[in-house]
Amino acid sequence: MQTTIPLSDEQIYQDFNYLHEHGETAFNEVVTTEYLAKRLAEMGVAYERFADMPGLIATLGNGTPIIGMRSDIDALKQTYQGKAGVFHSCGHDAHMAIVLAVAQYYVDHPEELSGTLKLIFQPAEETVTGAEKVIRSGQLPHLNYLYGLHVCPESEVKAKQAEPIIPDAATRTYWVMINGKTAHAGKPELGANVIDAFSELNEAFRRIKLATDLPYSITTTMFQAGKSSNIIPDYGTFAVDLRARTNELMVELQNRAFAAMDRIQRGDIKLNLDGNDFSPAAIPSDKAMNVMKRAITNVLGEKGLIEPVETAGGDDFHFYAYDGLADETTMLGLGCNLKPGLHIPGMSFDRAAILDGARMMIDAVRLTKA
Ligand SMILES: [Zn+2]
Repeated sequence: MQTTIPLSDEQIYQDFNYLHEHGETAFNEVVTTEYLAKRLAEMGVAYERFADMPGLIATLGNGTPIIGMRSDIDALKQTYQGKAGVFHSCGHDAHMAIVLAVAQYYVDHPEELSGTLKLIFQPAEETVTGAEKVIRSGQLPHLNYLYGLHVCPESEVKAKQAEPIIPDAATRTYWVMINGKTAHAGKPELGANVIDAFSELNEAFRRIKLATDLPYSITTTMFQAGKSSNIIPDYGTFAVDLRARTNELMVELQNRAFAAMDRIQRGDIKLNLDGNDFSPAAIPSDKAMNVMKRAITNVLGEKGLIEPVETAGGDDFHFYAYDGLADETTMLGLGCNLKPGLHIPGMSFDRAAILDGARMMIDAVRLTKA
């Protein structure tokens, strides 16, 4: 039996349209935050800002369970049809409109909320840095459940369908400096050539094989060294991209990468880690996924629920579980006829899916029991 959840379509589209027109990049979501604050104030929902960044946390209800719901709020700086601008080509405008609709619903139906609902409007998802800053702000209590959502490309999830988890992989990038020793090109034995060292390392990366059937990869994506054709280069930089289906597999892959890097450090060859980016894999929770499955079938019917589709992407949503702030977490993958793909300027999707998405997120909260 499909549920009917009354929503103010007009208000939701108004929210979406405003947010859509006012895309802002990571940590610059000032106008966006002002709008969210204004809307929450109109609804009479209590909210808190962050001391040193845009975004906010709204609170409804009280007691347990403590249920979190997260919307990312940032957009991407891009050029579209010859015009440079900041565009919501990742659909975070739809996510915000949905979470605002959830707030409105529980303002109107407080008796349907058991426990506390924390709505997290998180900045800087695109740079994979916002979630950790929210966690470190100390402004969130420990969450028993946390739900997120993302609109999905049509190639992964069709319109009127949804998946109960977005099974993102773990991704890690290392930026590394290699130092060697310079010498004249005619006297290579007197120097330590960073290109030779890097070639050996790259071969070692390519030979890494883990004992698993799960997907993973390790790929050098950048390498720069050398300025003159007759001098042994003593300095270079490279970047290596690691991906793994689970966080455990990522640890293994990292260990193997570091072992390979250690092995080429001999004589005058020295490596220094210059920086790294990390985004954890989704941590599947049966409890959260079962709630989301029921919400999907309640709203879209049995045919609406699909098996999770493997992605190559990542989302900093997974930090909330990875860092231990939230116990049971999942992200709804929302089909909405999204084309041609995420992060592509001019990306479009069926706006009516925002209403379905709001209904599923509302239902997920109702179905969550301590
Ligand atoms: Zn996104």
